[in-house]
Amino acid sequence: MGKQSELLFEKARRYIPGGVNSPVRAGKSVGMAPPFIAGATGALIRDVDGNEYIDLVGSWGPMILGHAHPEVVAAIEKKVGEGTSYGAPTELEVIMADTIVQMVPSVEMVRMVNSGTEATMSAIRLARGYTERKKIVKFDGCYHGHADSLLVSAGSGVATLGIPGSPGVPDDLARHTISIPFNSTEALHEAFDRYGPEIAALIVEPVPGNMGVVIPDKAFLKGLREITGEHGSLLIFDEVITGFRVAPGGAQELYGILPDLTCLGKIIGGGLPVGAYGGRKEIMLNMAPEGDIYQAGTLSGNPLAMAAGIATLKILKQEDPYQELERKGELLFSGLEDAAQDAGIRAVTNRVGSMGTLFFSEKPVTDFAAAMESDQGLFRSYYRSMLEQGIYLAPSPFEAGFLSIAHTDEMIERVVNSASRAFRTLEK
Ligand SMILES: *Cc1c(COP(=O)(O)O)cnc(C)c1O
Repeated sequence: MGKQSELLFEKARRYIPGGVNSPVRAGKSVGMAPPFIAGATGALIRDVDGNEYIDLVGSWGPMILGHAHPEVVAAIEKKVGEGTSYGAPTELEVIMADTIVQMVPSVEMVRMVNSGTEATMSAIRLARGYTERKKIVKFDGCYHGHADSLLVSAGSGVATLGIPGSPGVPDDLARHTISIPFNSTEALHEAFDRYGPEIAALIVEPVPGNMGVVIPDKAFLKGLREITGEHGSLLIFDEVITGFRVAPGGAQELYGILPDLTCLGKIIGGGLPVGAYGGRKEIMLNMAPEGDIYQAGTLSGNPLAMAAGIATLKILKQEDPYQELERKGELLFSGLEDAAQDAGIRAVTNRVGSMGTLFFSEKPVTDFAAAMESDQGLFRSYYRSMLEQGIYLAPSPFEAGFLSIAHTDEMIERVVNSASRAFRTLEK
């Protein structure tokens, strides 16, 4: 985009693999250096070259209140002068746990960690320890962080970069992970018929966001609850994206399905590095020091992260912006769909509340295979045109776009108008 970003990227690549600390940021699939970010406020993000963009990435999900929300900033500022980490219990952790238990229907007890990856990794360990079984069922294109057991047929950057699994994950471990197509009740039954008594847990993004957004079939989601129950396997909802995003209590509240364990991240940190996993008390009590399944963290429950997270959840509870986010989501994604149609571009959109994806595809995208069939070349041109017009999208066709309460109707209109111009320049 700009000279400064290019220079920084060049320098970054000398010292950081690929120049980035998380692969999707590098923009490899769109073939250009990523803008280096200088700052962000509300729904706007600025790069080091002085370009300002409407941000539809929202740090990949956390920024539901927009960037630098004054109350979140104040909460961090208030805390920071009192020390940044003690490695000892604090009241903030109790407030955070209490808030999560109040808001997330199935969670009776919760443990804070530092990332979504840690949350899912720990939940898997707990499920294996609790059931004394080894196998995990997951879905193709669902991404659950980068822990060994979960990097099989994963979405997000793994899909964008076309990596089937990952070197470094021992086969011995990978063979305990069964990955099947999302929304397929048939595949689900096959897996449980075959491996039922060995399955410790089924882990799912109840609304997948990491193959792009895919809408779950309600009967399919219900089926997950039933079949895990029948086989004595735990149902783990990975709500790292959907938690506090699609409803105050996440997808489990939206669809009325109670998992045994829930993984959280992104929004609960208010933009600081946080994750959490929780669930039924009887299961959670197996974690050390109450039980003997081990998991720990020097910075877990970090006071700054708790302050930012608590402030974020408090605002979400008080303001209850979910209807408004739904309205804005509809405005954006129906606008994009109409604009594509007007320009004669074959595209479909999937959306739940304020998260959604436009796929350059002729047919509905209901699973990973369909997502992978979407036109990646068109996406690349679309991405570049949008960036030039001041719209900041995730640099991958297999990601969600996120709205915040700071996105105004005028901004959404600008996004749709920009998309309209982009679509007209695309080769059909
Ligand atoms: C982002 C994400 C993770 C991993 O969280 P990190 O904080 O990046 O480790 C896990 N699961 C889902 C569904 C995610 O979207």
